[in-house]
Amino acid sequence: MTDTSAYKLAGVMGWPVAHSRSPLIHKHWIAEHGLRGDYVLLPVEPSKLQTAVRALPALGFSGCNLTIPHKVEVMQWLDVVEPAACRIGAVNTIVVQTDGSLLGRNTDAFGFIASLHQEHPRWRADSGPVCVIGAGGAARAVLAALLDSGVPEIRLCNRSAGKAQDMAQAFGPRVQAVSWEDRHEALHGVSLLVNTTNQGMYGQAPLDIQLDALPKEAVVSDIIYVPLDTPLLAAAKARGNATSHGLGMLLHQARPAFEAWFGVQPEVTPDLWQKALSSL
Ligand code: NAP
Repeated sequence: MTDTSAYKLAGVMGWPVAHSRSPLIHKHWIAEHGLRGDYVLLPVEPSKLQTAVRALPALGFSGCNLTIPHKVEVMQWLDVVEPAACRIGAVNTIVVQTDGSLLGRNTDAFGFIASLHQEHPRWRADSGPVCVIGAGGAARAVLAALLDSGVPEIRLCNRSAGKAQDMAQAFGPRVQAVSWEDRHEALHGVSLLVNTTNQGMYGQAPLDIQLDALPKEAVVSDIIYVPLDTPLLAAAKARGNATSHGLGMLLHQARPAFEAWFGVQPEVTPDLWQKALSSL
């Protein structure tokens, strides 16, 4: 049981880290629940990662988040990495245990699926195949979340075919690698399309995909949150599909970490949405 009256300290470690929205989210919940504590920025250059991470218990931290470029490298400096994080191949949350040991966790999969369920409560994991575009780090969390929710078939399309094939092999027979050329046709009969590439992000070209084969009932999710409405989501909305942007995933992935550090289960409320939206 976490003592909710004690002062707690957490933060986000990255390089650079000044842009992170995590302090806004966690500080909001600290204030909302009347807790004693803080959540701070921890700019740590890659060569100092081991020293910084191993110092967390001595500095009185309950834990921290990891962001670019530390999510994979950090795994070697932890005492235990949860099996779900090993499967995803990255850790975005460290929890300092009562004996001072460091536990690594990945909350991105939870963030993706919790946000999808909150925004589209009628979407059902078992209602049909899903098409995922992209096979980078974020795609691994999305695949884990979808498989664990019971999606029967995932069509995985990535520009570099080898990465999609490797990932399909690692995640098992429900994931099929589809060639980049076939991505438009891969949308036939899907219940959900997810963009996990950086295409459509501010400063990048739009994702190059034709939506003609996409069922009108399918949900289109883009995990990008700058901008909120990517060209993909705008095109999906224009043809009547329900859509979801990446801000929900960002907000929901913070919930399990906050609970582990501060001992309170936080919610993604309209108030927090509004605060996060106005920070973009
Ligand atoms: P990553 O590991 O670098 O993967 C990038 C992906 O984009 C790869 O699949 C890559 O394909 C693809 N890509 C890059 N340029 C492309 C192009 N010109 N045409 C087609 N595909 C292209 O990045 P990541 O960490 O997975 O992040 C991906 C996106 O997710 C970013 O926009 C990030 O902001 C967002 N994200 C959001 C959240 C959230 O909480 N909402 C969390 C994590 C990430 P190749 O393999 O062919 O290079």
